[in-house]
Amino acid sequence: MTEPLTSENTASAAGLDIRSLPKVSLHDHLDGGLRPATIIELAAAVGHDLPSTDPVALGQWFRDSADSGSLVRYLETFDHTIAVMQTRDGLIRVAREFVEDLAEDGVVYGEVRWAPEQHLRGGLSLDEAVEAVQEGLEQGVEAAEQQGRLIQVGQLITAMRHADRAMEIAELAVRHRDRGVVGFDIAGAEDGFPPSRFKDAFTYLAEQQFPATVHAGEAAGVESIVDALVHGRALRLGHGVRIAEDIEVDFEDEELTAQEQNADVGMVTLGRVAAWVRDRGIALEICPSSNLQTGAVSGFGESIYEHPIDLLFQTGFQVTVNTDNRLMSGVSLTDEFELLVETFDYDLDDILELTMNAVNAAFLPLEEREVLAAYITEGFTAARG
Ligand SMILES: [Zn+2]
Repeated sequence: MTEPLTSENTASAAGLDIRSLPKVSLHDHLDGGLRPATIIELAAAVGHDLPSTDPVALGQWFRDSADSGSLVRYLETFDHTIAVMQTRDGLIRVAREFVEDLAEDGVVYGEVRWAPEQHLRGGLSLDEAVEAVQEGLEQGVEAAEQQGRLIQVGQLITAMRHADRAMEIAELAVRHRDRGVVGFDIAGAEDGFPPSRFKDAFTYLAEQQFPATVHAGEAAGVESIVDALVHGRALRLGHGVRIAEDIEVDFEDEELTAQEQNADVGMVTLGRVAAWVRDRGIALEICPSSNLQTGAVSGFGESIYEHPIDLLFQTGFQVTVNTDNRLMSGVSLTDEFELLVETFDYDLDDILELTMNAVNAAFLPLEEREVLAAYITEGFTAARG
């Protein structure tokens, strides 16, 4: 269980055009990725008050709220996005633009997660809400194609942990499995709402051979990951970043700064849970900027240099890179990769490996993953010139 931590990736990818590389996005919330101008237009149509009606100022308000360190302010941001996503037309537009923005950023496969139960206030049924989002996603794929960009998307249907509707939502997801829905997720407050509360829903999904990813190891620690694996039967972990709390790293020189440690050779010892997650190849959907903002990785330090993503990647975990909430964090997937390139000196090979991890973890049939992998390899080969 003990092995050397090496950092072979010293060649910098600085100067790489990451936006043009084909990328995969697995953890991206629909209600966290709206365009500010769209929120303003939709809010005017339904009579919802916003903190600002200027797109630039509103975008800044979302970023400031996410950065405020206050969970209350962070959660308030979703009140505004969800408020304008209560009608069929609102959902279609938001979903369409979501896909167009991903395609523009070079994403070629994306899984879009959202919680239909939060979009019923305008009178839509759960099924109608899922159909509206699917319509918008398909329009987005078509619009991107007309601009010469290929993208494939799938829905992840989320149940909110505090709401106790998980079984109903699991059945909804399975009902739409051949119409765009590729997986199930639970989100919301981790503390007090472990997956074991919803084990009937997860058992039902397992019986239906329907895949689940579970938000865990973000707000809560290693025990939340165990619960997600045992009771949630999670095939992937939403964030899962706190699995690093089950890893010990010993550096010979204890005086090293976090930045120096990344380039140093240390001895890594995995606890039993961390070993299980790594050895079984359970993918971690890591969202670097979001993790810093929500304090998920504050146990390791406050800066990106101390984020355990590099430790997890170098140790052989199935690390994938994601955005979580593009509007609130003010980031794109390209930005997140650029951050990693600047911080950890990742090169093109690293970006390809992280992207292939996401391909392998995608809730797609093997044949489709093989096609996707070939397409991505071709794109990276072209980028090497
Ligand atoms: Zn999330």
